Amino acid sequence: MLEPVPHAVVTGGGRGIGRAIAAALKASGVSVSIVGRDRRVLDETVAAGDADRAALLDVTDEAAVRATFADLAAERPFDIVVANAGAAETGPFLRSDAQRFRRMLDVNLIGTVNVFQAALPGMIERRHGRLIAIASTAAHRGYAYVSAYVAAKHAVLGLVKSLALETAATGVTVNAVSPGYADTEMVGRAVQTIKDKAGLDEAAALAQLVKDNPQRRLIAPAEVARAVLYLCGEHSGAITGQSLLLNGGEF
Ligand code: NDP
Repeated sequence: MLEPVPHAVVTGGGRGIGRAIAAALKASGVSVSIVGRDRRVLDETVAAGDADRAALLDVTDEAAVRATFADLAAERPFDIVVANAGAAETGPFLRSDAQRFRRMLDVNLIGTVNVFQAALPGMIERRHGRLIAIASTAAHRGYAYVSAYVAAKHAVLGLVKSLALETAATGVTVNAVSPGYADTEMVGRAVQTIKDKAGLDEAAALAQLVKDNPQRRLIAPAEVARAVLYLCGEHSGAITGQSLLLNGGEF
């Protein structure tokens, strides 16, 4: 008998790390849904064959997440949820007001909470599922001038560790993948900020970002995607509550 094709949803699957994850899952035979706020990149990702279907969704909108996930799960139930959507704002702590902290918690933490809550009941019912959050090395250590983002990513890892314990007997695993600075638009924006603020050229600005990574390089989105595939593998069921670090030996 043919095995049913697994179904994955990747938030923010239209660009950067999310798109690499969508493409890798699709290439491995998974049926892939992607969600995000930019119709153009979502459609382009599906047209390029890196995902099967796409839906417009802001992950901070709990009601919209529930409705969209119900629609997508009606197509086929979820086996894999990758909470990848995220954003990073930089700035000194004394110029990071409560609004900035709320924005960072909203998209990075509450966005993850919303998608996990929408998908988990179906997974528990079927006694199988993989919940994966794309956290960061910023979930494990501090970085100056990004306190709101770092606090939010620490919160994501706290969620992963706790939910892994709650779901341990259900057949669902909950893990994080935690890259250092990766080669995406998010880091492109950070390089531009350093160039503008410190008057550095591109190479010097990039060197500032990778100085803490002993390999002195950005992580490739495809490397993050391989880590996700590993956690989704049939022999990864004992791995739960973990954060798989892709940090070049940073710590
Ligand atoms: P990008 O800025 O390239 O992509 C971010 C993605 O998140 C986009 O697809 C964006 O979609 C989506 N997104 C943002 N906010 C929302 C929202 N409210 N609702 C739905 N989708 C949203 O970033 P990366 O690919 O670099 O980052 C992906 C993840 O990896 C993030 O969680 C980030 O924190 C994490 N990470 C990144 C690192 C890096 O150095 N790049 C290092 C460590 C972790 P759209 O714009 O269409 O809404």
